[in-house]
Amino acid sequence: MNVILLGPPGAGKGTQAEGIVKEFGLVHISTGDMLRAAVKAGTEMGLKAQEYMTKGALVPDEVVIGIVRDRIAEPDCEKGFLLDGFPRTVNQAIELDKVLASMGKNIDAVVNIVVPDEELLNRLTGRRICKTCQRPYHIMFKPPKVEGICECGGELYQRADDTVETVKNRLDVYHSQTAPLIDYYKEKGVLIDIDGTKTVEGVFEDISNSLKAKV
Ligand code: AMP
Repeated sequence: MNVILLGPPGAGKGTQAEGIVKEFGLVHISTGDMLRAAVKAGTEMGLKAQEYMTKGALVPDEVVIGIVRDRIAEPDCEKGFLLDGFPRTVNQAIELDKVLASMGKNIDAVVNIVVPDEELLNRLTGRRICKTCQRPYHIMFKPPKVEGICECGGELYQRADDTVETVKNRLDVYHSQTAPLIDYYKEKGVLIDIDGTKTVEGVFEDISNSLKAKV
């Protein structure tokens, strides 16, 4: 089964992705994670991507399409994959369809996690990540026992693109460039809307039940 996880930044795509890949035995393909790894490694592509990411803008389509094309072509993706954070523009979706068609593959389901903007702003600007183990915290919803310190002893930090200004920009970008994908996949008959305001467990149960109905 090949699945796309769609939703605004802060909808909980990363968290839900972890559960979905485990439950359905899929390969997790997160363009955000792959781009952050390239930035950390200081590759040429990473340096180019960083300029866009710190502003909350989208990295150019040809860069991300290339990364995804190479990853899907790897043998482990034969068992099925979950795309998280890709596609983010209608152009990326069209290019993805071409790549999949050339490999004799298709998308079986698009899970769209729906959360209102106001809640997204609260969720994202309060998010803190451990520098050492990447564990996520939230200053209001999931505070660490000791302020600024992870359970593992690592120091917590705020992602450069989680500041108020950048988050507002990311939400604008989502509405203008990514939200049109909802109609794109609705017309193809593969869209599943999920209420993302429930608890992490509640959202996972809804996603899991919807996908089981597809297998
Ligand atoms: P994410 O972790 O999915 O929120 O992605 C973080 C940042 O990486 C985004 O704000 C974009 O700058 C960039 N990015 C991730 N995926 C894509 C994509 N499919 N197209 C363009 N830029 C992307």
